[in-house]
Amino acid sequence: MDIASALEKRFLKYVGIESQSDGASGTMPSSPGQTELAEVLFHELRGLGVADAELDGNAIVTARIPGLPNRPKIGFVAHLDTVDVGLNPKIVPRKIHYEGQDILLNEERGIYFDKKAHPEINRYLGDDIFFSDGTSVLGADNKAALSVVMCAAEALLANEFPHGEVYLAFVPDEEIGLVGSKRLDLNRFRPDYAYTIDSCERGEVVFETFNAGTASIRIEGVTAHPMSAKGVLVNPILIAQDFIGRFDREETPERTEGREGYIWFNRISGDQSAVSLQAALRDHDLSGYEEKKRRIREEVHTLRRKYPKAKFSIEIEDVYANIGNSADRSHPAVAAVYEAMEQLGIEPKTIAMRGGTDGSALSAKGLVTPNYFTGAHLFHSRFEFLPMKSFVDSYRMTMKLIENAGRR
Ligand SMILES: [Zn+2]
Repeated sequence: MDIASALEKRFLKYVGIESQSDGASGTMPSSPGQTELAEVLFHELRGLGVADAELDGNAIVTARIPGLPNRPKIGFVAHLDTVDVGLNPKIVPRKIHYEGQDILLNEERGIYFDKKAHPEINRYLGDDIFFSDGTSVLGADNKAALSVVMCAAEALLANEFPHGEVYLAFVPDEEIGLVGSKRLDLNRFRPDYAYTIDSCERGEVVFETFNAGTASIRIEGVTAHPMSAKGVLVNPILIAQDFIGRFDREETPERTEGREGYIWFNRISGDQSAVSLQAALRDHDLSGYEEKKRRIREEVHTLRRKYPKAKFSIEIEDVYANIGNSADRSHPAVAAVYEAMEQLGIEPKTIAMRGGTDGSALSAKGLVTPNYFTGAHLFHSRFEFLPMKSFVDSYRMTMKLIENAGRR
């Protein structure tokens, strides 16, 4: 079977298993479909002859493919879940040969691919392209990566070329806060560095993500009947308003782009006795991120002095870290991506991502994990699409990284 057919076969199988994650479930994995998919992958790995494959009770699959000694050990991480953005959890993919025609995704519902909004589709004239039926995402995020990694594992097991040790990890619940990669046991998954294949169009490379944290502030006031409130009542709602007002309105998600960080007040709840506030802190620059944490603490401190009868508590949690904190372009993991792209004639598009990847969680744990393309466009949308040639290039990238590491 040629590689395009092999990728397609796996992709159709994996998207056929519903595996939306569910942020409200409180379990890990957050949905049973992820366990089902993890079991399928685990058995496939065993079937290929990977003796070192493991599946744990949280639907984390790890595997080690032995190789030549004294070569860089590289790892690949892909996530099992598809995102829940209010679309159908069931994915019905279709492959359309695109020659510039109108693209009907769903006859029954009359859903067309919106070509005016997404003219980038015209870069793929003459290619076969996977779409959903317009009621769901396609799930190339991240089932294209699962397919690429499994096809690569198959090629490695067939022992077609010399290679070093290769590690694989399939993790659940990336879309609801990088849960699986945070839980991934680095005693089971032990490469020198790793990759996620979780970015969009052909050529995309990400080794810079946000540093990210959550600040939770609780303000307790003093209640009183309004008739005897003078000098007694301390209103936490007004204190919360005062607190939020101390931050720059230009430093918010809606006013920033590129490499600009922000503080995003994204939750508030309360009553006359207490108010809870939550803010997301984001910055590519580590010192900028630390500064945002310091600002939050400083403003709480200021309000403590201003409202001595109120009680304040504050908790700041680091959520993930910029991969770039520990790896610049000269890091072997990052340099290898550019090297492989050059060899394959793929133009790199480097992106400072305004978000996080599984690699951000792993890099925070000390495992440098850059990210490159699946080849798909429009992740998290009903118009998500995957051109076959780009999908094959994602596989070729993966194989090139393994081949090059095997020669070092
Ligand atoms: Zn993803």
